[in-house]
Amino acid sequence: MDIKGFRIAYISGLAGTQSSSYEYTSEDIAELYSMCVRGNPCFRGVDILLTSQWPTDITKNDLKQVSLTVNKTTDFVSWLVMKLKPRYHVCGLEGVYYERSPFRAPNLGDHDTTLNLVTRFVGLARVKNPNKEKWVYALSLTPLNKMKIKDLLQKTTDETECPFDFAELERKIFNNKRKSVTPCQYFYDTSATVETIESGPRTKKQKIVFDQSKCWFCLASKSVEKHLIITVANSTYLALAKGGIVDEHFLICPIQHYQNSLGQPPEVTQEIDKFKEALRKFYDRNGKVAVFFDRNYKTSHMQLQVVPVSKEAAKELKEIFIGEAGAHGFTLEVLDSNTRLDQVLQANVPYFTVELPDGAVLYTKIKGNFPINFAREVLVTGPILNCPLKSDWRTCILQKEEEEILVQRLRTDFEPFDFTND
Ligand SMILES: [Zn+2]
Repeated sequence: MDIKGFRIAYISGLAGTQSSSYEYTSEDIAELYSMCVRGNPCFRGVDILLTSQWPTDITKNDLKQVSLTVNKTTDFVSWLVMKLKPRYHVCGLEGVYYERSPFRAPNLGDHDTTLNLVTRFVGLARVKNPNKEKWVYALSLTPLNKMKIKDLLQKTTDETECPFDFAELERKIFNNKRKSVTPCQYFYDTSATVETIESGPRTKKQKIVFDQSKCWFCLASKSVEKHLIITVANSTYLALAKGGIVDEHFLICPIQHYQNSLGQPPEVTQEIDKFKEALRKFYDRNGKVAVFFDRNYKTSHMQLQVVPVSKEAAKELKEIFIGEAGAHGFTLEVLDSNTRLDQVLQANVPYFTVELPDGAVLYTKIKGNFPINFAREVLVTGPILNCPLKSDWRTCILQKEEEEILVQRLRTDFEPFDFTND
């Protein structure tokens, strides 16, 4: 439900094994979740979740405790809380008043674009109960989609650990019927099949082998979309980013296949620096400054992405990048000005880096899950480019004819800055 920008989800009745007017099933909660995310590529969470039943384990990790009278808590609601990340979750049924210390349900992986919002749980007593326990609750809220990420991520002093374990809930509710959500690093390891010896017979570990002839970014490959190319230098080229956030969102790529910036030869790096300098001047003609970012994770061919932002927005970038990294559970380090990236990162370890307009470089070594649209998610937010619906490139893809017209225009615009003509 969307009321004046507020997103409210609710499910009434009791958890059961058969859908009926008073019972809901595991399929119903999965459907409620998909209703909330459908057509909403940058789903952040919901403002309010209303359920009759309390989530199992809700009092865990909280100093305040409460005795339930009805005792009909359910894992189904705990699962919904972890998936929907409501800012407020209000329940009845148990008939006792209990307000839990706030907690944050963690981001659950690649397709989870939610922020780690603070959830506040409120259980309400019965209307006009004789003990005069609280049964009305007044809220003054700004809708989630209108709030700055910075404010949403603001820590409160009384935060507690999330009481639920998602893997355990998935196992209990869906009984391993669903595919594991653990991501594998497609295309990451392009080395040959590795053999491992386990106790007993030899087993071969299956690896996904990357077919370089189908690489989207190797200039010689059949799969490269040539109509997106702006200009080609000796060992690198500049192309329009497919599904870019703004018209002048580009990729700088090596012509040959190198997986990442640390594994490429120095002449490639030097030429990329020339493109970066040319793009800084190009954006400056419109008073814009450049943000460069690169991810050595779930990608096989090095691509440095470039997005222009206003000088005003650039001031907030560092804080927002670091803040949102924190919300995703990882830390962005600031590269010391006397240090190079190859001194802190290795080519064979997944990493993410971003270079801000003031020259500051932020980086992180990726351990486990990483939100692959991370940099986009930051750049599309209100304070920066303010186009939150563009956080997923796939929803921003233009028709081929539109791409061709745009590239034609950009080739002309970029020509005065193009060093490859010299
Ligand atoms: Zn390639």
